Amino acid sequence: MNEEITFADLDLSPEVMDALKKMGVKRPTTIQQKAIPLMMDNISVIAKAPTGTGKTFAFGIPILEYINLDAKFVQALILCPTRELALQITTEIKGLARFIKGFRIAALIGGQSMRLQAEKVEKKPQVIVATPGRLIDMVQRKLVDISNIYTLVLDEADEMLKMGFINDIRKVMALTPKDKQIALFSATMPREIQDITWQFMKDSAEIDVMPKAEDHPDIEQFIVECPEKDKLKNVVQIMAKEDLRKTIVFCNTKAQTSKVGQMLATAGVSTRVLHGDISQSQRNKVMDLYRADKFDVLVATDVVARGIDVDDIEAVFNYDIPKENELYLHRIGRTARAGKSGKAFSLVAYLDRPRMEEIIRYTKIDPAPYEV
Ligand code: ADP
Ligand code: MG
Repeated sequence: MNEEITFADLDLSPEVMDALKKMGVKRPTTIQQKAIPLMMDNISVIAKAPTGTGKTFAFGIPILEYINLDAKFVQALILCPTRELALQITTEIKGLARFIKGFRIAALIGGQSMRLQAEKVEKKPQVIVATPGRLIDMVQRKLVDISNIYTLVLDEADEMLKMGFINDIRKVMALTPKDKQIALFSATMPREIQDITWQFMKDSAEIDVMPKAEDHPDIEQFIVECPEKDKLKNVVQIMAKEDLRKTIVFCNTKAQTSKVGQMLATAGVSTRVLHGDISQSQRNKVMDLYRADKFDVLVATDVVARGIDVDDIEAVFNYDIPKENELYLHRIGRTARAGKSGKAFSLVAYLDRPRMEEIIRYTKIDPAPYEV
């Protein structure tokens, strides 16, 4: 992170500056330093940046800065892959806009009644946050008009493609002005995304924020070497020794989350399991309970890691060592949020060693050995 650039240097309005202050946000992250000036200059951006590095404000701030509060049409459209994420983005931007009078934002997501959402649109929001399927549905029923937007944000573009939203995204491209600004954010840049950028974003600025351990400065990282069969015992002992309460235990598969969840429950830990096969409404319920401190340990796969935006997670455990290097950074980024510090423990069995060594090389982290 370039320590020199401050929010004051970015020429923001007093309303946004006050909101940042109120939220305790002090310095712009790397992606914010790079994307905000470009987007405020109406330049399209293709940004690759790891999860947890502040992308929501990177596009949220410029949108708030140029929105026309008197105009009664949708000016910015933010597409994202899941309902949870749409609600999170909406909440974050509402927080940023708390001092901006007349600002309106609406979330249009599946699983909520169409009529309720049509009512939200009737209040004339300047910004809409939506999942692609529901948005297209509402546009086709003429319940929402996106034909005059200035800016289209594609957040977590790689996830949207993985979830099969490519045709919906193409439709949105066709239904919105040709000369709109596009801001594409993605943690990875697979071929399909390069195709989209090539087709629709020829004159864009590219931003590449490398996943760096130093973007997570407040996370103490440890390696716990132990046989596979002792992992659970070690996790429970570390929780006690470190006096940890709210933690996440990451596993690589759904089956493993269920198994680990059950073993933790047997060990007397209050726990819930979250993975991709659990219905959306159930997932929301579990996340609400977690935020409300109704249980301590969330056992999860990477599929749901992105949706986990909880500020007071004390530590992350890698029960299984992640299969991809960047996932390690995504996982540990669930702790030490909102200016707090956190800890990350990776349980490394003999067979995990080569994988862990590669992660260390790739992410340039320097985890300390931990004696249980
Ligand atoms: P991403 O979209 O890159 O995964 P988010 O935008 O969800 O990341 O931000 C992650 C967390 O960091 C949020 O809780 C957000 O409020 C917080 N955050 C964002 N920008 C900053 C900043 N400049 N300083 C401190 N915290 C920040
Ligand atoms: Mg994000």
